[in-house]
Amino acid sequence: MSSAKKMTAPLWEDVMQLNYGTPEITLVSGKGLLVTDANKKKYLDFLSGIATNILGHAHPAIVKSVSTQVSKLGHVSNFYSHPAGLALAKKLQELTGDNTARIFFCNSGAEANEAALKVSRKTGRTKIVATTGAFHGRTMGALSLTGQESKRAPFRPLLKDIKHVAFGDISAMRKAVSRKTAMVIVEPILGEAGVITPPEGYLKDLRNLCNEHGVLLVLDCVQTGMGRTGNWFGYEHENIRPDVITLAKGIGGGLPLGAMITLGSTTPQFVPGEHGTTFGGNPIAAAAGLAAISVIEKNRLMSQARSFEKRLKIKLSAIRGVKEVRGRGLLIGIALDGEYAKDLAALLAKNGFLVNAPNFETIRIAPALIVTKVQIDKFIAAFAKAMREVNHG
Ligand SMILES: *Cc1c(COP(=O)(O)O)cnc(C)c1O
Repeated sequence: MSSAKKMTAPLWEDVMQLNYGTPEITLVSGKGLLVTDANKKKYLDFLSGIATNILGHAHPAIVKSVSTQVSKLGHVSNFYSHPAGLALAKKLQELTGDNTARIFFCNSGAEANEAALKVSRKTGRTKIVATTGAFHGRTMGALSLTGQESKRAPFRPLLKDIKHVAFGDISAMRKAVSRKTAMVIVEPILGEAGVITPPEGYLKDLRNLCNEHGVLLVLDCVQTGMGRTGNWFGYEHENIRPDVITLAKGIGGGLPLGAMITLGSTTPQFVPGEHGTTFGGNPIAAAAGLAAISVIEKNRLMSQARSFEKRLKIKLSAIRGVKEVRGRGLLIGIALDGEYAKDLAALLAKNGFLVNAPNFETIRIAPALIVTKVQIDKFIAAFAKAMREVNHG
């Protein structure tokens, strides 16, 4: 770190691609929810690297587990097995409650969905149904599943045979799904589209529809998973079993890790040579994932997330200008009565709270599961104050 301090940082535009625009804040350190920028300004991080730092920054359990692992064995490739990877796979299998669960590790959400896409080809069918507004990643296969025109348009032609229907609309799904469909892929809650929850029973109806036509039901739990929505993956409240689960974001406790999990003995699986990735499930990321799961279990963070959900929904809904508070657990979308979400997010950052505006009318928060009640209440107060400022200022 000391060498980074000595040199003056180059300008973003001079060295970086502009695919992210130019970030206005440079973060240099973090502890729990608190992060500090290059000007020593402090923020409470209510976004967690987009629902990723599930235990916040520099959590002692992650630091210990990663440090121990990196000093012992950092990378082995997939020519060799290693204890951390096997232990994490076993743990994930347990969390699915299904001993037929089989895990493929990768490094990101897009890669997890690419793996699911390849698994679906093994059904012998090629047609796929996804939903409009959904986000499944940016690589060409995952982008083909993503239902957002602005992200797709510059990169056509994309994969063929993928149809997008309205999210939450089971009759639209019924029209689109047939015996020629290989897979249906949905997010349990649309994350990037603005934290949009489907009607109750949607996932259960999808399960039945997929059963009827022998179609794989793939749930993209990249954003909803790892306890964020008050259960492990984000679909359990509907009491169903998908055929494939994809995970990333929170699963690595802040380190790059993704997973594609097949469930059930009839779901196709890769045979040797069909798929792979060099870094996937490496010992360091796996050690971090294990530590994260263990802290979430030990500290009952999922039930805490459910109670914070109630508190946030009640208190935020009461603020003037808030139209609706959506989401589950600690994945919350705050719908505004106008298109000022970007300004509001900037104002909140100025006032020391990191959030994001996935669209012009929604603020998304996804604080680490270790967030305290005091921090939740600080956020609610700051949000109310920022709303008064944007609406009257
Ligand atoms: C973020 C996200 C992805 C893509 O994950 P990357 O790690 O950015 O590739 C896929 N699906 C969902 C639901 C996501 O939220």
